[in-house]
Amino acid sequence: MIIHLRPNVSEQEAHRFAAMTTSAIFHDGERFVLVTPSKLQEIPAEIEPSAEAHWAMDSDIQLASRSYSAPTRTVQLGQQAIGGETNNTMVIAGPCSVESEEQIRQSAELMKELGIHGLRGGCYKPRTSPYSFQGLGREGLQLLAKMREEYGFVIVSEVRDATHVDDVIAFADVIQIGAKSMYDHGILKACAKTDKAVLIKRGFGTTLQEFAQAAEFVLSGGNPNVMLCERGIRTFETKTRFTLDLCGVAWLKEHINLPIILDPSHALGYRYGIEDLSKACVAMGIDGLLVEVHPDPSVAKSDAAQQLYHDQFRHLLKAIKPVAEAVGRHIV
Ligand code: PEP
Ligand code: MN
Repeated sequence: MIIHLRPNVSEQEAHRFAAMTTSAIFHDGERFVLVTPSKLQEIPAEIEPSAEAHWAMDSDIQLASRSYSAPTRTVQLGQQAIGGETNNTMVIAGPCSVESEEQIRQSAELMKELGIHGLRGGCYKPRTSPYSFQGLGREGLQLLAKMREEYGFVIVSEVRDATHVDDVIAFADVIQIGAKSMYDHGILKACAKTDKAVLIKRGFGTTLQEFAQAAEFVLSGGNPNVMLCERGIRTFETKTRFTLDLCGVAWLKEHINLPIILDPSHALGYRYGIEDLSKACVAMGIDGLLVEVHPDPSVAKSDAAQQLYHDQFRHLLKAIKPVAEAVGRHIV
């Protein structure tokens, strides 16, 4: 159950109610909000006089549910916003990993040329092998911050584990929580304590319920700026890297009030179909598209097979614009 306490309820009283009901508690700028376990269906008599409104919920997807708050939440990303009334589809693009100043500057130049606002680049890479490139770490974050200063991008970079989450929060504008890290409560809780935007990627074995509940950790800690990213789940199919779950996206659109970003690059795992998939994603009326692009994918230190050449990305961008228009969306 979600309970909005009256604005005049003191902090001490609000915390007493929270302890009584084993609730998460946060202040939303106007009032304290309690989120009890969803099995509580009746508001306790002692709390009722102090409550302004309450919602009995049918699962622990609570704050993210459209049955609590129907409109898609607005998330501000630099000068642009997504969700809410915007009808914006924000393109976030860049290399899988930040590899050098020269490489990320080439990416930045391309994004500037194409009017893209979101620049991505991983610095802490969650690799499947310990012998693969693990990312430049803090040095990479500093390069991204430099690109932001020079070009004004919104910087998206990922957290691999809780040891460096504070660094990523300090340097990036959007904290990406990777598919392999979305169960890490140290990361989720640290992201709840900032007001920076958080992009949670769906684990490849994660149900939609678990996915939305990961967002609940951030939302119930007081950070409303959460976006969900579908990036492919594991199925029996081995010809593609993963399977982009567009049925899951339809479910999220229907039930969840968070902006949805789609990542065709990690789903397919190969460059050849990224443009087609991007068109399909945009046609679903999503809030953002995440695409990996590299100045020379043949020498990329991670995800080489799926990153687009610059010309392919230019072509992709042209191809998705009419699709966006057809479904009443603007590419930003
Ligand atoms: C990435 O965005 O480069 C990445 C590692 O993604 P995922 O966590 O979805 O595998
Ligand atoms: Mn990648």
